[in-house]
Amino acid sequence: MRQLVVATKNKKKLSEIKDILKGTNLKLLSLDAYKDLPQVVENGKTFQENSIKKAVTLARFTGQLCLGEDSGLCVDVLGGAPGIYSARFSGRDKSDIKNNLKLLKLLKDVPAVERKAHYVCAVALADKRGLIGVVEGNCSGLIAFEPGGSAGFGYDPLFYIPKYKKTFAQLGEKIKHKMSHRYHALKKAKRIIEKYIENHKSS
Ligand code: IMP
Repeated sequence: MRQLVVATKNKKKLSEIKDILKGTNLKLLSLDAYKDLPQVVENGKTFQENSIKKAVTLARFTGQLCLGEDSGLCVDVLGGAPGIYSARFSGRDKSDIKNNLKLLKLLKDVPAVERKAHYVCAVALADKRGLIGVVEGNCSGLIAFEPGGSAGFGYDPLFYIPKYKKTFAQLGEKIKHKMSHRYHALKKAKRIIEKYIENHKSS
């Protein structure tokens, strides 16, 4: 079975990635399996750039096939913000609750029709020789007027899916993991991994 190191310290992201990739012939390793990991400075200008940095740095360090992931929320009326700054939207002293409150405050007087947003997830794959490929997935929704639900993480209590009339946090993992930005990106990444394994059978 081929090992795949997932370059994230976010436990919720890791469990979503594990759930979406289950059924593949891959043994997923988290960063907990390694000590003295190199620091990855997320100073890329795009989700893809940051995901590549994570995958390439970790692959160089571990010598293993690595998956780097970078994701975030883009709100139309905010010109795509918070985007690549989603995790640190509320500043140094950030938290999911503070990020959500800041977003609600910024959208205070914005009507429902103008609350369009989408999540983006970039997934990069690398081995010790360098980058293998990078892909992206999206998921569209609206920003709710108040938080709802307790599943998921980050902006999920505010990310409202009109089709279900529920937020991601109200819908729960079973549905989120079949339609999320991460699901769409990992579906594409799976094809790259399968091709890579086929081409590197003996290594
Ligand atoms: P990263 O770890 O630098 O990629 O930051 C990702 C940030 O984007 C998270 O901390 C969340 O704030 C937000 N985010 C990304 N994906 C999701 C998701 O699936 N649900 C909720 N928030 C997300």
